[in-house]
Amino acid sequence: MDAKLALRKCPECNAYTMKVECTNCKNETVIPKPARYSPEDKYGHYRRKLKKRLNIEPGRKPIKS
Ligand SMILES: [Zn+2]
Repeated sequence: MDAKLALRKCPECNAYTMKVECTNCKNETVIPKPARYSPEDKYGHYRRKLKKRLNIEPGRKPIKS
């Protein structure tokens, strides 16, 4: 998705616009970022990473916290 074509939002009046500047209050608009990665996904990434490491070293026991 092209950032230039993204729908922008004014943090001041919450108006949606395609422009960098709010048409209402001339405030700088921001691109509302959707939560692509939930905390669960982040931990899932670490779990997979750990699992991969354990697969490489099957003789090793997981380090106790
Ligand atoms: Zn505004």
